[in-house]
Amino acid sequence: MSESIPLPDFPAGHVWLCGAGPGDAGLLTLHAVNALKQADVIVHDALIGAGILALGNPVAERVYVGKRGGQSATQAQISQTLIELAQAGKRVLRLKGGDPFMFGRGGEEAHALATANIPYRIIPGVTAGIGGLAMAGIPVTHRDVNQAVIFATGHDPATDWAAIAHAAPVIVIYMGLKRIGDIAQILIKAGRGADEPVAIVTDASLPTQQVLHTILGRISDDLATHPMSPPAVICIGGTVDILENTNG
Ligand code: SAH
Repeated sequence: MSESIPLPDFPAGHVWLCGAGPGDAGLLTLHAVNALKQADVIVHDALIGAGILALGNPVAERVYVGKRGGQSATQAQISQTLIELAQAGKRVLRLKGGDPFMFGRGGEEAHALATANIPYRIIPGVTAGIGGLAMAGIPVTHRDVNQAVIFATGHDPATDWAAIAHAAPVIVIYMGLKRIGDIAQILIKAGRGADEPVAIVTDASLPTQQVLHTILGRISDDLATHPMSPPAVICIGGTVDILENTNG
């Protein structure tokens, strides 16, 4: 299949910053698979599952720099690791969940590589906030519902949720499971309907995927009776149930 598609050679001493999609190996790009096959070392975080790592060059070294369990590497340490591996002449694959430039610190790592004069390439990936929701049957735009969509992280206490409430009819939240009850209250106070549909999708695209459908005013109660664990992507707005409400 991919034989006829020209894919680049991975030069020694280069770093490829690559998105791996939400988890299902079928959502890798051909560029990502090409990178996995040629890498000497794969630097990855917690969201990269065993199924995707298994597609890598079997002799490639795997370096885990994730934030789950034990002491986590700082961003500066991760960038330094990439620089040192490249300087040692390795083909360095920096593999990230989703898309490397969507809440993935890919921009920071690219900047560090550029500053250190390390040649690099960016390989986009399917982001959880679009492709992950699609796997749950949720379009992030629909011509009858919204002309804009906003992607936000639920993680940063400085986020202006009242402004976001007015910014777009559909709001997609990454890293928001812990704070979603509070966020929902602020959105309602700012004028969003308590009856607006919400979907929470965990482990999107994986066999363990779960989807909770609720409404803005009931998120906390529903999560109390149906506890969910990260990674979760949350979609708020009229596109959430548009396919469910369609006949056929
Ligand atoms: N760069 C990634 C996002 C990294 S931030 C991307 O483009 O998707 C990590 C967050 O991404 C998680 O907390 C969660 O909100 C979301 N995420 C990543 N993979 C996911 C998955 N399979 N299911 C649900 N959410 C996911």
